[in-house]
Amino acid sequence: MTRQGSRSLKQLRRGNKESVLGLFMNGGELSRVRIAAATGLTSASVTQLVRELIGEGLLVEGDEVATGGAGRRETLLRFAGESVAAVGVNIERDRTHVSLCSWQEVLEEEIYPTKDLFAAGMDELAERISALAAKSSWRRFLGTGLAVAGQVDEVSGRTAGDYGLFVPGLPLAGEIARLTGRETLLVNNVRAQARALMSDPSDSFMLVKHGPGVGCAVISEGVVVSGANGKAGELGHTVVPGERGICRCGRRGCLETCVSESRISELYETKTGDKMSVQEVYARYPSDEAAREIVDGCLSKLAVAVGNAALVLNPRKVLVTGGIFAREEIFEAFAGAVRAAGFGGEFPLARIGDERRVKAFSGARHVMLKKLFGM
Ligand SMILES: [Zn+2]
Repeated sequence: MTRQGSRSLKQLRRGNKESVLGLFMNGGELSRVRIAAATGLTSASVTQLVRELIGEGLLVEGDEVATGGAGRRETLLRFAGESVAAVGVNIERDRTHVSLCSWQEVLEEEIYPTKDLFAAGMDELAERISALAAKSSWRRFLGTGLAVAGQVDEVSGRTAGDYGLFVPGLPLAGEIARLTGRETLLVNNVRAQARALMSDPSDSFMLVKHGPGVGCAVISEGVVVSGANGKAGELGHTVVPGERGICRCGRRGCLETCVSESRISELYETKTGDKMSVQEVYARYPSDEAAREIVDGCLSKLAVAVGNAALVLNPRKVLVTGGIFAREEIFEAFAGAVRAAGFGGEFPLARIGDERRVKAFSGARHVMLKKLFGM
C-alpha cells in the first residue's frame, strides 16, 4: 500500500471534478488556491470546476480568510453533503437496515428481520425503498445501494458465490431498479461498510467484521481490494491449523467454523449443558469462567488470522466491528490476544463503536462515492 505514484493515476481515472470534490470528503474547507496546490490543476481549471460544482449545488462558499500577503483574502468552500440523498439497504442474515441518508446524516432508518422482509420476494423491500426515496424532498436523489452479505458481482448487479443469503446469479440490483424505477447498485456488505468508514480518498485500512460469519474488506488508497476474481478479503475462510470442521464454503477448518456466533453458542452448550444465545454468552464473559474460556479461545484464533493478514497487507490501521467485538471488554481482550500472538505494535487496532450507523450508511455511501467522487 504505497502512497506515491497511485494518486496521480487515480486522479486521471476519476476525472478532475471528482478529484476536486474528493478533497472535501472529510468535511474540511478549502480555498481555490489550496485546491490548485493539492490537485496540480491550473487556477483557471480550478475556477471553472468549482463554478460547475457550485452550480450543481455540491460546493458552497463560506467565510473569507486572509492569506497573509498584502490583505489578500480567499473564499473558503465546503462540500454541501446535505444537498444529496441516497437509499442504503444493508442485508444481513438476521436483520436488514433500510435507510435514507445525506452524506453526513442518517435521515430515516428502518430495521426489519431479513426473513420477513423477503418472505414474499422483493416487492416489500422495493416499496420501502420507494417510500424513503420519496422523502428525500429537495435533495438530489442519487440512487439505491444494496449492500448484501456474501459475494456479489458489482458490475452485473448479480449475487455470486454459493454461500451467501441469495442463490448465485440472482439479478438483485436489476430487479430492485425495475420495481422502484431508480438506479440501483449492488455491493458486498462488508466492503460497503468499509467504504462508509473512509475518511478521505487515500485512506488505507482493513475492516474485520464478526457475526454469523467472519467478513473482511481491505481499502488501499481509497480503493477496495477485490482480487482477480473479486474474492479478496475472505478472512473467514482462511484455514486454522488442526481444525477439521466442515465450512459452508465446502472446505474444512475455516476460521469461520471455529469462531462464528453459532459455534460459540454450541461450544458453551457442550461445555456447560446450558443452551444460551451468543449475546448471553458475551454478557457472561466478565463473570462466567466457561464463557470466558470459550470466547478467549475464539479471540486467539481471530487474533492470529487478523495479525497474519495485516502483516501481508500493511494497512494503516485495522478496524473491527460486530459480534464478538461489540462489547468493549471483549474487544480489550482481543487487543490482548493480538499482542499475545506477537503482533503488538505492528498496526493500530480500533473498534467501530456505532455499528448501527455504519450499517445505515453503507449502501447509501457506496452510491455517493460512485456517483459524486468517482470512487
Ligand atoms: Zn470456509
